[in-house]
Amino acid sequence: MHSELEQLLVLQDRQQKIRQIQTEIKTLPLERAHLESQLATSAAGVEALKQKGRQLEVERKKLELDVGTRTESISRLKTQQYQTRKNDEFQAIGHEIERYENEIRKLEDQELELMIEADKLKGEIEAADKSARATKDTISRQLADLETKSKALEIQQQELGTEREALAAQIDADLLDQFERLFNSKGDAAVVAVEHGVCTGCHMKVTTATASRVKAGKEIVSCENCGRILYEGPA
Ligand SMILES: [Zn+2]
Repeated sequence: MHSELEQLLVLQDRQQKIRQIQTEIKTLPLERAHLESQLATSAAGVEALKQKGRQLEVERKKLELDVGTRTESISRLKTQQYQTRKNDEFQAIGHEIERYENEIRKLEDQELELMIEADKLKGEIEAADKSARATKDTISRQLADLETKSKALEIQQQELGTEREALAAQIDADLLDQFERLFNSKGDAAVVAVEHGVCTGCHMKVTTATASRVKAGKEIVSCENCGRILYEGPA
């Protein structure tokens, strides 16, 4: 094979690797954002349950206060009842006391329901908290791995870049220019094999003359269809 062609193939290999690494580096912020959003969702879930718990406690305290005011009313009424000498007033006060006592029973029933609910919620919070801690551990590890990967990719990219510079310096400037233009415009490869008389870049048949010039390997030959530089592939 033409020695410049061999150099171009090595150069192309490094440039393809660099391109792959750059693509990978670009996905890292997305991966990081995805992990961070998972972390936030898990923390928000626990916070929502805790907020519900605080709400239940507020409601329960309110019921307790309501019971308290009615208990005070009852003791005030009992004093009045003790002091009255009128039978109908005594009876009326008795009814009022009964009304308050009924209200207190209902309030206490509601309070009991809230306490049962709060107890159930407490278990849910503990479970959610435990799972959120596990999620945090896993995600922290994944974020650290991502950071390590990011650094490794940067180093690899630098090393390949240095190697690429050294290779490019050995190649004829015009040929290098042609290669670069092809490499950047084609998106995949600038130098491709001819297999069974077909250019593997554009998948079109090359002319017999082109095929034999490629086979001879004495010069740089381009595909007449796509312009890629050709080499004789495994037949
Ligand atoms: Zn072609």
